[in-house]
Amino acid sequence: MLTQEEIISIDQKHCWHPYSSLINPPPLFPVKSAEGVRIRLMDDRELIDGMASWWCVIHGYNHPRINQAITRQIEQMSHVMFGGLTHEPAAKLVQHLVDLTPSALTKVFLADSGSVSVEVAIKMAIQYWNSQQRPEKYRLLSLRNGYHGDTFGAMSVCDPVNGMHHLFSAVLPQNLFAPAPPMGYERPLADEDVQELRRLFEQHHHELAAMIVEPIVQGAGGMRMYSPEYLKVVRQLCDEFEVLLITDEIATGFGRTGMMFGCDHAGISPDIMTLGKSLTAGYMTLAATLCTDKVADGICRGEAGVFMHGPTYMGNPLACAVANESIEMLLERDWQADIQRIEAGLKAHWTDAKQIPGVKDVRIMGAIGVIEMEEPVDMTVIQPKLVEEGIWLRPFGRLIYTMPPYVMSDEDLAFLCRKTLDVIWSLG
Ligand SMILES: *Cc1c(COP(=O)(O)O)cnc(C)c1O
Repeated sequence: MLTQEEIISIDQKHCWHPYSSLINPPPLFPVKSAEGVRIRLMDDRELIDGMASWWCVIHGYNHPRINQAITRQIEQMSHVMFGGLTHEPAAKLVQHLVDLTPSALTKVFLADSGSVSVEVAIKMAIQYWNSQQRPEKYRLLSLRNGYHGDTFGAMSVCDPVNGMHHLFSAVLPQNLFAPAPPMGYERPLADEDVQELRRLFEQHHHELAAMIVEPIVQGAGGMRMYSPEYLKVVRQLCDEFEVLLITDEIATGFGRTGMMFGCDHAGISPDIMTLGKSLTAGYMTLAATLCTDKVADGICRGEAGVFMHGPTYMGNPLACAVANESIEMLLERDWQADIQRIEAGLKAHWTDAKQIPGVKDVRIMGAIGVIEMEEPVDMTVIQPKLVEEGIWLRPFGRLIYTMPPYVMSDEDLAFLCRKTLDVIWSLG
């Protein structure tokens, strides 16, 4: 067994972490185990997890039912190739996804991560227009402050500044960006809020394959909630100008915002939808790209006659079995009541947060709570403080935020919220 010191030493010498430097490695906390909403560090400290491991762990860690589902599946088979073969876990999963998502989405591509599902969505849109004899429609329209993943296609539709597009400009597809939607779920939409968006459609529709948006909440690009009216306008413009609509529900899917999917807030149905993150409740990597009959039909009648993508681990049975169990667990419980309970808790505990010096804004929607600071937080200061207080949050930029597991008790949520505020007070 490696000691804590050995783990850190090997890691800091050899291991990349998300968005990290190896010259100036950030502090690391080795984890021994995790259970429910608690992460246990190797030094036996316990942290209440406010991150759900990046939106994923909706039912809590080490859940007996999901453990059982994955063990059952391991005993049958862990993997078989998906070319020419299929299996019950995949069939069950695509049926679940078709049943849960808007009814026009009937075809499912199982991908291996969120970013890949976005690549797949973009390729679907481009192949579709190619099949319609309109190959000049290959560009994407996206939103400022958007985040869609880290691979090249996905990166090309992320916010150009946050994503440091200039570093990659020689190889990055040049896409178009509309201003970020004005913040506020309840904020009435004014004409000027969509003026520039409309202008981009008018000017570029002939070369646009699709518009891609994170519905209702822009996640990693700024934790910004916006109006369902805006989404409705996006759908209308896409229809009016013959542009496909891709909703990236990787972060918003499976209840996080209070509805099953972000687009349910606006009652809209996309042409293509991506799912990931909480799809497998934080157990394994898996994602999905769904599309309509129209898109699938177009692709299959086009020049290639097939959709040009096929990951090695496509439809991995273990990941599908986990996703099926997670979805069934979600549907069996009154998940909306859980989300409302967490939303109410966040609102109650953070009502006064705006009065803390340095806090600029507090935003709460569903099981998402965001405290925006005036200035970027110093991670080398705040991260150890949060851990000392017994909570796990991973702020970025000016944002200190939580997306707790849906199963977090009121007591644990109160503790998490109170300790967050204590740490913010101590920064001042
Ligand atoms: C996390 C995320 C992705 C990328 O998913 P990965 O699994 O990290 O590749 C894409 N889109 C959105 C909205 C996300 O939140």
